[in-house]
Amino acid sequence: MVRDYVRDYPEATVMEVSRETGVSVARIYELVRQGKLVAHSPDSDMAVECVVCGRRIVTGQVCDQCRREIRAKSVPASDERLKGRLHLESRLRRPREKGY
Ligand SMILES: [Zn+2]
Repeated sequence: MVRDYVRDYPEATVMEVSRETGVSVARIYELVRQGKLVAHSPDSDMAVECVVCGRRIVTGQVCDQCRREIRAKSVPASDERLKGRLHLESRLRRPREKGY
């Protein structure tokens, strides 16, 4: 399990984690994006960039600051917030289609 390995070897690089766990590098970054894996520091090569401002973050899609801003802008109704989140996620997951 990647998470166990990262917990035991927090300083391991993504390449090392991939080699030791058999999980591809792309999949490891996917897990970090999904918040299922947390890099030990923003300087780690496992850290990802905030999709809004590009700041290094240890997990998820956006940094704390952007998350607060997004939250402040969104309608307080919970289903509205969920809709916005799903929209953001589907946009991130799918590369822009041709002619779109
Ligand atoms: Zn940000």
